[in-house]
Amino acid sequence: MKYPKDVVNYQCRDCILWKTRTQVVWGDGFPTAQLGFIGEGPGREEDETGIAFVGKAGRLLRKILGLLRLKRKVIILNLVKCRPPQNRPPLPSEFEACSKYLYRQIDALPNLRVIVVLGRVPWKFLTGKEEPVIQNRGKTEKWHNQLLLYTYHPSFLARSHDKDRLKEFIKDLKKAKAIAGIRK
Ligand code: URA
Ligand code: SF4
Repeated sequence: MKYPKDVVNYQCRDCILWKTRTQVVWGDGFPTAQLGFIGEGPGREEDETGIAFVGKAGRLLRKILGLLRLKRKVIILNLVKCRPPQNRPPLPSEFEACSKYLYRQIDALPNLRVIVVLGRVPWKFLTGKEEPVIQNRGKTEKWHNQLLLYTYHPSFLARSHDKDRLKEFIKDLKKAKAIAGIRK
């Protein structure tokens, strides 16, 4: 089975983000994943380490994946593979240049069933819809051969310290786990 790591070009210069990155960050996780996650793009710690979701938001996400016994069943990807300056959201032109890698990564995951979309920015890029996350989280949408499930970005949860939102996030991840057919 082809590991999704191989489908990204680590010397890529197809958009302007190459100029300010330290390194290309392909994502993190397992080629056998049944469940996927899509965030925006690498932040400072991701740019430094080369691994997706290792900063504050990543630590929160990984903690919850541990609680739900999902750690070895998931793959974590981003819209763009190079860090946007000051962690701004990626621009449409940058996603247009980078999306080929995301599509190839998804195509290389034979067991993937559900993709959890982390926040308004990736939801807008993938579905074309501008839908506030607070009112729309938990909803699913068909997308290529996958099912997207909309929820909060963990950086929003880490900043807001809101227990109810965190509970909703866990509920959404449990729903995604069930739809993906992960039993334990
Ligand atoms: N936020 C994201 O959207 N992606 C990462 O990889 C880290 C933080
Ligand atoms: Fe290439 Fe994507 Fe990095 Fe832009 S963000 S340089 S398209 S890998």
